[in-house]
Amino acid sequence: MKVLVINAGSSSLKYQLYDMTDESVLASGRVERIGMDSSIVTHEPAGKPEVRQVSEILDHVTAVKRVMEMLTNPEFGAIAHMSEIDAVGHRVVHGGEAFSSSVLVTLEVKLEIRKLFDLAPLHNPAHMMGISAVEANLPGVPQAVVFDTAFHQTMPNTSYLYPIPTVLYRRHQVRRYGFHGTSHSYVSAQAAAYLRKPLESLKMITCHIGNGASCTAILNGKSYDTSMGMTPLEGLMMGTRSGDLDPAIVPFVMNKEELTLNEVNSMLNKHSGMLAVSGISSDMREVTEAMEEGDKNAKLAFDMYCYRVKKYIGSYAAAMNGLDVLVFTAGVGENSAALRKAVCEGITFLGIELDDKRNAERRKDTREITVAGSKVKVLVVPTNEELLIARDTFRLVKQSRTS
Ligand code: ADP
Repeated sequence: MKVLVINAGSSSLKYQLYDMTDESVLASGRVERIGMDSSIVTHEPAGKPEVRQVSEILDHVTAVKRVMEMLTNPEFGAIAHMSEIDAVGHRVVHGGEAFSSSVLVTLEVKLEIRKLFDLAPLHNPAHMMGISAVEANLPGVPQAVVFDTAFHQTMPNTSYLYPIPTVLYRRHQVRRYGFHGTSHSYVSAQAAAYLRKPLESLKMITCHIGNGASCTAILNGKSYDTSMGMTPLEGLMMGTRSGDLDPAIVPFVMNKEELTLNEVNSMLNKHSGMLAVSGISSDMREVTEAMEEGDKNAKLAFDMYCYRVKKYIGSYAAAMNGLDVLVFTAGVGENSAALRKAVCEGITFLGIELDDKRNAERRKDTREITVAGSKVKVLVVPTNEELLIARDTFRLVKQSRTS
């Protein structure tokens, strides 16, 4: 079975075509600048050179049409005909309380996703455009949706409720949802398999640290608490997002600086975090380089960033009354030995003993970076959200065919 995975944004659309017989990627790519002039399609067929085309792509229906043309191109395509695509899986950021697992797309499911537009105004409408565009280009092909929030639906109410008037939860569903769930779920399962232990038997903290960043406490194989909240702004300090701060700062700054709601929102989401503190960049590579060259603000940004990860690890170890496995994943978590060292240093009391040599190794596979005998095992696990989306889609379509 061949499964196409789609991650549709408002002006971009990423895709990967999987052959599920061996989970190999046949081709991947992205369409950028949808709806703008000079849209760009970048197509990467397995084992062949990358292809780049610039043209006018006004909407998502045309974007998916171009993707089909790329995938079926006789020279650099991956399949002979569109009919070889058996199913399509979509990443959907917000599943609210309606979805605790992946589902096949039906009219009811689409209506539910639409109801969640308020909670994810930048993401869910774009995902819906992606779903409709596939319907238009591949009529009758089953589609599945995999939600970033679904894995966290197991959190107890002590984790997901905020201590504010409960009417706000009842009226507007104000609560913690958490994000990056597909990644936390994937890497926790990979980590357990690597250690040859049942996931349910392990107290685990997974740190997904990329441009966006979140930590999740996983108890009995389920999400018990997670650092992102009602929106992906809460929790860790991130590339451009503030993460946790005193909520009273928001009205205070709005008043002093005469900021509108949109302006303060933009400040906290796009002009804060590592970018604001370093004054250099939101990119960990650039901040680390500047720090190594002696830049004091870069060092402060790096230290604050790592300190906040460490605080979450401590609080989640307390929340679960113990810790067996700590996992680092995503762009920074997988690649920055400096971050992993700074975070793990000084938490030996929890039973974490980092192996500096293993930590410094540049590898792309799942590996342990603690010394033999370390009570808590620290692993680096490359995340692969697309593969999990492909697997869920494959499973749901197979089930629907046999039932
Ligand atoms: P996204 O949240 O957009 O999916 P990624 O998981 O791709 O982000 O992570 C992007 C981040 O990873 C950037 O801040 C980048 O600097 C960082 N990163 C990538 N490679 C390295 C590296 N070798 N060392 C340190 N940071 C890295």
